[in-house]
Amino acid sequence: MTLDRRQFLRQALLIGGTALMAEEAFAQAAQQLITNASAGKISKKPLIIPKKIIAIDAGHGGKDPGAIGAHGTYEKQITFAVARELARQLEATGRYTPVLTRRNDSFVALGQRVVAARKANSALFLSLHADSVPNNPDARGFSVYTLSDKASDSMTAALADRENAADFVGGLDLSHHSRQVKTILLDLMHRETTNSSLAMAHATLSKMAPSFVPLQKPHRQANFAVLRSPDIPSILVEMGFLSNNDDEKALREEAYQRKLASRLTLAVDAFFSA
Ligand SMILES: [Zn+2]
Repeated sequence: MTLDRRQFLRQALLIGGTALMAEEAFAQAAQQLITNASAGKISKKPLIIPKKIIAIDAGHGGKDPGAIGAHGTYEKQITFAVARELARQLEATGRYTPVLTRRNDSFVALGQRVVAARKANSALFLSLHADSVPNNPDARGFSVYTLSDKASDSMTAALADRENAADFVGGLDLSHHSRQVKTILLDLMHRETTNSSLAMAHATLSKMAPSFVPLQKPHRQANFAVLRSPDIPSILVEMGFLSNNDDEKALREEAYQRKLASRLTLAVDAFFSA
């Protein structure tokens, strides 16, 4: 039996709403499993480990080209090419089911991308982008973003005020709870998500660094709309600078896109095996 981290947290919140009770519930569940196992109650059938659903978000699309490179490369084309290749590689491991937030060159609103990922019950959200600073053509390299702490805090508070807050804590009906209790429950869930997002950012940096040039201080924080899932660990990868000649040329190459996707696949593996 594998306990999905998010499912477990949701269950824990349903059971007690406190981290302490969650730990106790976990210990009891574990004890029960051991008891069942020693009593021979566990089926000998091979366990089927469910595949993790990975949301892959190709930045921009349709009427929104994103950044435009010095030689006319559209960011939306690069993000889509790498997203598709990453989906292919993740699927090939047999461990993941990739879900693309856009499947073609269409415009999808930012909020809609997050909604799609949540609907698909994604365990991880990876947003792919390419940067541009036309007034500094020397800037190059990749960087990884997580949601800023400030944005996280205000988001949790705003969520507690919204009617659909229950949606984020396993369907638990929060309507009869005070705003304070709602905030605590959402905060617990969101803190767990934030830690996981940071772990994924670190895994990404360490797997990409040997093969690609990192930007100075490559882990950055920002209030990106697509990183605002309270219950899905989320990162945004800026794969390079379209305003830099070398980066733009590399990002257009299929071999380079494949290499990017393979390092990201290693990062996903590292994240889930941690
Ligand atoms: Zn972008």
